[in-house]
Amino acid sequence: MKASSGSAHLSRRRFVGQVSVGAAALAFGSRLFGQSSATPKKLGIALVGLGSYSTGQLAPALKRTEFVELRGVVTGSREKGRQWARTFGFPETSIYGYDTMHQLADNRDIDIVYVVTPNALHAEEVIAAAKAGKHVICEKPFTTNVADAEAAIAACRAAKVKLSIGYRLHFDPFHQELKRLAHEKDFGVLAKMTGANGFQMGRKVWRAERKLAGGGPLMDMGIYCVQEACMAADGAAPIAVTAREHPKTRPEFFTDVEEGLDWTMEFANGAKAELMTSYNQNVGRFRAEGAAGWINLEPAFGYRGIRLTSSKGPTALKELPSQQALQLDDFALCVREGRESRVAGEMGLRDMEIIEAIYAAAQSGQRTLVKV
Ligand code: NAD
Repeated sequence: MKASSGSAHLSRRRFVGQVSVGAAALAFGSRLFGQSSATPKKLGIALVGLGSYSTGQLAPALKRTEFVELRGVVTGSREKGRQWARTFGFPETSIYGYDTMHQLADNRDIDIVYVVTPNALHAEEVIAAAKAGKHVICEKPFTTNVADAEAAIAACRAAKVKLSIGYRLHFDPFHQELKRLAHEKDFGVLAKMTGANGFQMGRKVWRAERKLAGGGPLMDMGIYCVQEACMAADGAAPIAVTAREHPKTRPEFFTDVEEGLDWTMEFANGAKAELMTSYNQNVGRFRAEGAAGWINLEPAFGYRGIRLTSSKGPTALKELPSQQALQLDDFALCVREGRESRVAGEMGLRDMEIIEAIYAAAQSGQRTLVKV
């Protein structure tokens, strides 16, 4: 399966447009929204799952967004839902349970549903949202296997709703610079890449249970390295991978998922990435080198504080206030304009294909072709 051209190959014109999407959208707001007012009507969004990412990152982002606002929640706790309704000023009739998501179909205030639950629940919730006629953002990893990702994409297509993945770094200026360098080849082909992402897991949570997480740190943290290597390869998917699981130092903790993993990704143009993920090490870095220069991101993957250095010297790029607010606003504009997201469902599917190949390679010990 091919990654969509929208997500995989960005023209310079489109890339530049994306960098300044906030400003451009503001300037053209009234035209886009078909209104004469300078303040266009916002789209409504409902968050599914009110855990740490929704609370700590998406809720504050939704207070900054210009084109979308929180108008509902799907939660297992009605009381928590009431608190969110009071804070965000939406009616209690817009609080749903996981088993009543189908009733979203009757709620005209809600245009978009954002799935932020444990990984193994994503596919069924994306499908429920699509069947209710809502556009969908799904957190990473899209699903826990390729078949579920295909089913979720098919449901969105059948319902004619847009689908995107919560790949917030595509809205970060430093990662956009990596994509620009990869595309315009200022440093030549970025043929040698290295990267690592992980954290020291102290308390056992669903992230270390196969049933809910689908795997270990590769699904959760390593996916950022997978994403980054594909960005540095100008949107290409790897053709083959090799992988080796780390020996377990806490086997009682990591009973049915990996504790850590080293893997490589080989690209058709000869580029190679050597990557690592772990639930036993606080790390977040990525480096890509071409014949004419290098780019280094460290810390590479955080919500804030990303640091970019390159052989060009100091960067003039500045951090923007909220990756998530930009991501949310961009999706709202995609819905309004009828265009595909730069982080469309097909990109999530591509990454599931790569992750499945990495797990297969770790199990067999063999170089494994990627089906993408
Ligand atoms: P969390 O554990 O803090 O929250 C998960 C929420 O899902 C909780 O509110 C929980 O009550 C609810 N839930 C519903 N059904 C559940 C079930 N059967 N078992 C357990 N919980 C259930 O997790 P989180 O950190 O908010 O992560 C949620 C999703 O967001 C994950 O897919 C994760 O990968 C993703 N995430 C993305 C980023 C990012 O930077 N894009 C950051 C953190 C998390």
